[in-house]
Amino acid sequence: MDEPMALYRRYRPETFAEVIGQSHVTDPLRHALANNRVNHAYLFSGPRGCGKTTSARILARALNCEKAPVADPCGECQSCLDLARGGPGSIDVIEIDAASHGGVDDARDLRERAFFAPVNSRYKVYIIDEAHMVSSQGFNALLKLVEEPPPHLKFIFATTEPEKVIGTIRSRTHHYPFRLVPPKTLTAYLEELGRTEGVPLEATALPLVVRAGGGSVRDTLSVLDQLIAGADDAGVTYDLAAALLGYTPDSLLDEVIDAFAAGDGGAVFAAVDKVVETGQDPRRFAEDLLQRLRDLVIVANVPDAIGMGLIDIAGDRAERLENQAARFGRADLTRAADVVSAGLTELRGATAPRLLLELICARILLPGADATPDGIQARLDRIERRLTMVGDAAPAPAAPPVEAAPSPPVEARSDRDQSAPPVEAAPSPPVEAAPAPPVEAAPSPPVEAAPSPPVEARSDRDQPAPPTGVPGVADVRRLWPEILDKVRVIRRFTWVMLSQNAQVHSLEGTTLTIGLVNAGARDSFARSGSDAILVQALTDVLGGTWRVEAVVDPSAGNAPAPTRAPAPQRPAEPAPPETPRANAPADRDQAPPTQADDAQQTPPTQAAAPPGRERASADAIAAARASIRDDAARPEAYDPDHHARADDPAMDNDGLSHEELLSRTLGAQVISEIPHD
Ligand SMILES: [Zn+2]
Repeated sequence: MDEPMALYRRYRPETFAEVIGQSHVTDPLRHALANNRVNHAYLFSGPRGCGKTTSARILARALNCEKAPVADPCGECQSCLDLARGGPGSIDVIEIDAASHGGVDDARDLRERAFFAPVNSRYKVYIIDEAHMVSSQGFNALLKLVEEPPPHLKFIFATTEPEKVIGTIRSRTHHYPFRLVPPKTLTAYLEELGRTEGVPLEATALPLVVRAGGGSVRDTLSVLDQLIAGADDAGVTYDLAAALLGYTPDSLLDEVIDAFAAGDGGAVFAAVDKVVETGQDPRRFAEDLLQRLRDLVIVANVPDAIGMGLIDIAGDRAERLENQAARFGRADLTRAADVVSAGLTELRGATAPRLLLELICARILLPGADATPDGIQARLDRIERRLTMVGDAAPAPAAPPVEAAPSPPVEARSDRDQSAPPVEAAPSPPVEAAPAPPVEAAPSPPVEAAPSPPVEARSDRDQPAPPTGVPGVADVRRLWPEILDKVRVIRRFTWVMLSQNAQVHSLEGTTLTIGLVNAGARDSFARSGSDAILVQALTDVLGGTWRVEAVVDPSAGNAPAPTRAPAPQRPAEPAPPETPRANAPADRDQAPPTQADDAQQTPPTQAAAPPGRERASADAIAAARASIRDDAARPEAYDPDHHARADDPAMDNDGLSHEELLSRTLGAQVISEIPHD
């Protein structure tokens, strides 16, 4: 060989076993060959470059093999050698490119020659490539021949457009549809090819090659060929592939996705600027962004998407995707993907692509709109939960240090003793014991961190790093029944497991540790992807981003969780806080004793004042909810907040007081404020 032959020619399959990704076609063909039940005419259809012509050649080779009938050509007889890769070819296997020889004269010529017996093979095989290019007169000239061929004659029509082959011909063929090759199959094939060729292929580069090939083996190998030609000793690296194929580097996509998740407009537009400054095509960037959002949507919806092979990504990036998906949230992801998808259409042929790209990004940054009563209800639920968490502020600041301590017995005690948290926490002054290390140390998501809720602003005077707004383990325990309800809606299996074999073990930052009754339950919990389900439920109930870890805790299975969980914190509360009305009075009843306890243990200025206001706000919220419900009940209800949604970051910023916030956001009015001093 003087010059290197193209990869796809060097690796052109010689047997059906070597044809990748088409076993639905090649297996039946092999059976037909082995049983000597071969039809006289075939129609191979399918996208380009996925093995139609190659399979036609293999079929011809098997038919004419001296050892026939065989499923696979022997590769040793004269006919097999002639028809091998790089062989001289056989006079009895005739390939016709209908794109240039599809006229009626060519068809007549073929018809005359076809009647002559094969020279030195069993069959005369006509492979008619691009068969859809045969003119209808051409097909008509062939019709008689295909209808009643002499016994030595076989036809194989290969085409990308089977519907253009006239029906009378098509109905006399056996039709085998070829398909695009799945990315996973192609990736495995490329890895093997890299080993055979002795060229190092970086695992992260392969998905790019596969994507560029679009499921066609020939195109994929051409792309790889080009990359290998341009590679140095390091082989085909991700950087080389991304640069040569014009893909947006993963790092830039990560940057943008992180910025979107954090609602950080500055970072988003800086990334767009980088796209344009580095000479990348905005449209290509939008396509890649859409692809990434698609991956994230799948990861967010399917707990084990990467394990199941639904995402075509190298292993070391999987975790990153999962983190991003968790931070974004399902609804936001789907919405962002919709926005980019719609924007791509606008980008086509746009004269100012950068401007359009920036507008697309601006649209993603806008909070989504869920104007349905359900959506408003969900937002109220979330705001209220946050406020009640702050309402329990006295125990809350103390809780984190307790949790942070490595000794788990604290938990056990607080389970037994209902007034435990404040008492437990008080002996050690909360302020110095904990500048809330767990909260700070936790990889708190930017969404949570950036827009500081107004409630935080108020407690700032007491605590340098207020843990307010960040749920403590007590909050999680209190809301555990509600969380379990959510879990049950998402997946019954997980609910059964959690309600019977698990309990809340501890909470550190945003990582919730679940105690499962034995190692088997813990493994089953992890294996079944139940952790992802619980994360989703936590996010739905409490907002924010969560991580879940599972440990073995033999005490976990003793009592059914739903009845036990609410007990530790609020004995007076008969049921999980299902409705605000049921909840609010219970809170008020509970509040005085709690604060009295606090007053004994901790400086009153610190503990008593803020909760009082929170209680009042909770009442105001209840009023607001009633008003909203009335509004929603009316047809064509006025929607005070068309563009906002439950996890809208703007909901808890601005440093407004609760009254202002409620009145501005919901049109509510504070009816009365109950002091607790
Ligand atoms: Zn042979």
